[in-house]
Amino acid sequence: MTKRSALLKTSLFPRLVNGPFGDPGLFVGLRWQGRALQFDLGRLGRMEPGDVLKITHAFVSHAHMDHFMGFDHLLRLFLPRDAVLHVYGPEDFLSRLAGRLAGYTWNLTEDYPLVIVGHEVRQRVVASATFRAATGFAGENRSQRPFDGVLLDEPAIAVSAAILDHKIPCLGFALREKSHLNIDTSVLQKRSLQPGRWIDALKQAIRSGAPDDREVLALVRENGAVHERTHSLGSLRDLVIETRGQKIGYVVDTLYSPENQRRIVELVCEADLFYCESPFLDEDVEQATKRYHLTARQAGLLGREAAVRRLEVFHFSPRYEGQADRIYAEARTAFLGG
Ligand SMILES: [Zn+2]
Ligand SMILES: [Zn+2]
Repeated sequence: MTKRSALLKTSLFPRLVNGPFGDPGLFVGLRWQGRALQFDLGRLGRMEPGDVLKITHAFVSHAHMDHFMGFDHLLRLFLPRDAVLHVYGPEDFLSRLAGRLAGYTWNLTEDYPLVIVGHEVRQRVVASATFRAATGFAGENRSQRPFDGVLLDEPAIAVSAAILDHKIPCLGFALREKSHLNIDTSVLQKRSLQPGRWIDALKQAIRSGAPDDREVLALVRENGAVHERTHSLGSLRDLVIETRGQKIGYVVDTLYSPENQRRIVELVCEADLFYCESPFLDEDVEQATKRYHLTARQAGLLGREAAVRRLEVFHFSPRYEGQADRIYAEARTAFLGG
């Protein structure tokens, strides 16, 4: 099995919903799956409705208005749909979500199939509740599971969260695409091997860490006919190319404190792309600290310490309108270690 980083193939397509001065919102399309994840629900009006409707999981850092007001927009588009929408947020989130849903009258939705599942991330547990349009979005089926840092774990992707300090608990997120095992078809042809179900068994053996002498039944073309032949796993490893999955970090609204630093660096460590807030310039660090926010320099230092490949700063304070270049430059200098 060869590791060729040049073959990095990704199925994650992230883009900020608004400009750097607009409300935070990161849309991540999942190619092959025809769906998307959304980080923060600030104003969503600039999104194509078709994109909004691809969202299956929304991760809300905290319920300050600029991060959560777009929930109504989401709800309005999803209301007539037969869909299950998962929405995650920090402590107190289930009551915030219930409050938003209680703000409307639902006397004619008994036939609507929409289901919203809310998840509240606390220190040690994730508490969940189901809100169904059919029952007027009354919270039901309440449950809890232990919180070990992972919110979503699917075969192709995983989403982790860290609880950060924004004078209230605020969630930072990391989305990781798991590694792919692809078959090098040129090697397959060269060795007269025939594609088939056995390839899945081979990948499964590799994923489970099986030893080289493990026998794998492969299909081989000989004299124009296809036969089953036993090969050792070791002799088949050169067929498989492992491509590393992409990792995306997302951190907003947080204080530059040693504890937050540690948690952020651990969360977004070696991300390919790190979306980090930087509302303030470092000349206004006092103001930033007072408001439990980062400066551009601090965002750059976090990206540097976490050894991320690319840093994308956003969520700029309107006080710097027309001065975005200064924010980018300050973040870049700290990130590159200047
Ligand atoms: Zn904010
Ligand atoms: Zn905030």
